[in-house]
Amino acid sequence: MKIFAGDIGGTSIKYSVTDDHGYMMFFHEAETEREKGGPYIIQKLEDLIAGYPDIEAISISTAGQVNIEEGSIIYANENLPSYTGTRIKDILEDRFRVPVMVENDVNAAALGEKHYGAAKEYSDFLFLTFGTGIGGAIVIDSKLYRGFTGSAGEFGHMNQYPNGIECGCGKQGCYEQYGSTTALIREAKKADPGCTNGRQLFAMIQDGDQRLLEVLDSWANEAARGIASLVHIFNPPCVILGGGIMEQDLSVRLVSEKLYQHIMTSYSGVKIIKSQLGNKAGLYGAISLHEGVKHIGKI
Ligand SMILES: [Zn+2]
Repeated sequence: MKIFAGDIGGTSIKYSVTDDHGYMMFFHEAETEREKGGPYIIQKLEDLIAGYPDIEAISISTAGQVNIEEGSIIYANENLPSYTGTRIKDILEDRFRVPVMVENDVNAAALGEKHYGAAKEYSDFLFLTFGTGIGGAIVIDSKLYRGFTGSAGEFGHMNQYPNGIECGCGKQGCYEQYGSTTALIREAKKADPGCTNGRQLFAMIQDGDQRLLEVLDSWANEAARGIASLVHIFNPPCVILGGGIMEQDLSVRLVSEKLYQHIMTSYSGVKIIKSQLGNKAGLYGAISLHEGVKHIGKI
């Protein structure tokens, strides 16, 4: 089955088309232009899909909370304005007359890791993605655990500090205000106003900047504290760390070291693994949503 797979994020729309066997034939990215809002983003997605008239199915991974039965956006924050309520499945099925599946991007990435990546050998695992915020997915018996209203796994909003830093969700002291990449860069800027992004941070640490190494170390401690709570709740055999920041071995190493300090020794069999599929995980997971294409190889 030839599938168009799209992954809609705040920065880019990643997309690919598979051959008949589910192999991705290319990997492209287009700018989301998120400030133009939901209807524009969907029109842009339609234009991309229209370039491949022989596809037989469409799989979409997207930011925001997703109603998977309706293939619609239950809620998206100000990162994607006017996106809440978008009926992606209806819009694309009306236009292209092929089956459409829609899944939340973090869930899709977890499925990607399950079928093609770091979690192939695990039927139970947690997946966390560190970026602007902290996203999470829970896989139990090889299936996503979705919760009562489909919104399980919002790890980024665990309350870590009463009366702590205000969060975009309207609450205070949320995990992502301390453990996300945004939080790391905020603290790095305080230590050195010249350090404004992750790439710079790691380059400066590599050059021996001790202060920034301390910032990274204390961020890793915050990231690990949240994971420790999750490990105590779920007792998973494996936790997969995703997001650009975790492509750095130093981040994964520091977070792992801190984690083992924060968990009870009886939980210490848990493995901390970095994502294997990186920013393609969502596309892999999206492709796996259509029956009959699971467990097929990579590009
Ligand atoms: Zn929050």
